[in-house]
Amino acid sequence: MIFDVMTLFPEMIENACNFSILKRALENNIIKVNTINPRDFTLDKHKKVDDTPYGGGAGMVLMPQPYVDAYDSIDKCENSVTIMLSPQGEPFCDKTVNELAAFNQIIMLCGHYEGFDERIREVIKPREISIGDFVLTGGELPALCVIDAVSRKIEGTLGKIESADEDSFADGLLEYPQYTKPREFRGLHVPEVLLNGNHKEIAEFRQRCRLERTRQRRPDLYEIYINKSKG
Ligand code: SAM
Repeated sequence: MIFDVMTLFPEMIENACNFSILKRALENNIIKVNTINPRDFTLDKHKKVDDTPYGGGAGMVLMPQPYVDAYDSIDKCENSVTIMLSPQGEPFCDKTVNELAAFNQIIMLCGHYEGFDERIREVIKPREISIGDFVLTGGELPALCVIDAVSRKIEGTLGKIESADEDSFADGLLEYPQYTKPREFRGLHVPEVLLNGNHKEIAEFRQRCRLERTRQRRPDLYEIYINKSKG
């Protein structure tokens, strides 16, 4: 999987990928993360990438030429998808992550300031993705969410020990509660069933916990899951 990230702040992407599981995935060539800075594609000597909005209003708008030229410079493989990070995009969820993980290349456009000149959308025609109903200062953190969540779904990124099969959302439910050592902490005990080595009982206990936790915390997901299991 190749991630090509168009950003005015490449260090934000490069530095954040340099830790833990993503770092290992990069070192093992399971993923590759490139950054492309639209500022390198400006045609004026001041390397200007933004300007005031036509019609007035606060802030600066990202100009189309540096972004479209930077986009055109990227080698695109056949199985590639282009994403614009935007609070106006489709909500980012596990289903989107699975869809994106099926591509070989994800090109991402990170906005900043007031966002993109509309013609960038019209020329590039990206899929637009939002990581939630709030507004961040830039698209770098959302792009990192995409890199991280998609990388976890690519074979080889997670070791067996970190398997994603039972994570929340994998089959529509939230995960069961987890415990590790010690057996007792501040008077709180690990449930007895987890200590008895009976795999069938453990699996049943965990499934009950998943159902109850999802029902309480995410009734929307619970309803979908129950309706699906009824066929
Ligand atoms: N003026 C824009 C609007 O109201 O829709 C918001 C621009 S925001 C300050 C600057 C950039 O941050 C956006 O172009 C986008 O790339 C990124 N961004 C901010 N919030 C985001 C979100 N919830 N999801 C994805 N990207 C976001």
